[in-house]
Amino acid sequence: MRKILKYGGFYMSKIIDDGSKLVVDKIQNGTVIDHIPAGKAFLLVDILNLSEHDKIMIGTNLASKKMGRKDIIKIEDKEFTPEQMNSIAIVARPVTFSVIKDRNRISKEQVHLPKKIKNIIKCPNELCITSKENINSNFELENVEGKDKLRCVYCEKLFDIEPMSKYINL
Ligand code: ZN
Repeated sequence: MRKILKYGGFYMSKIIDDGSKLVVDKIQNGTVIDHIPAGKAFLLVDILNLSEHDKIMIGTNLASKKMGRKDIIKIEDKEFTPEQMNSIAIVARPVTFSVIKDRNRISKEQVHLPKKIKNIIKCPNELCITSKENINSNFELENVEGKDKLRCVYCEKLFDIEPMSKYINL
């Protein structure tokens, strides 16, 4: 059972298969994005604007004790801003970003939805002033009956978080 995908055709992933467990090879320096809900890896690649110039390894549907199945992305020579990391929380949770230096993990952070999200998402409301004029978008996180939602500060419309992935613009 080998399930690894090559993205962009630039980096040939090396997979270690010890019989029971499938492991994506370690990177020297860069970022490991782990605990991605299975099936979301390619969406994250799009949102993070990774291109054919990036050296990426993607593992999908890997066994996970906590999650059952998970995806993982490893990117050589690349780090991400807190804004980029937290924008991922809009489409996938839990997700962790680990920074790797000389094959050692030097930090690990779990993404979380920020209370305020500025500029990252375009307001889906075509009548919103931010859609018509050159104004930076601004959303606030709101909890409605136990469910996280985003409210546009300008048009005051409330949106479910999941569909907002289509409107992310980093
Ligand atoms: Zn709006």
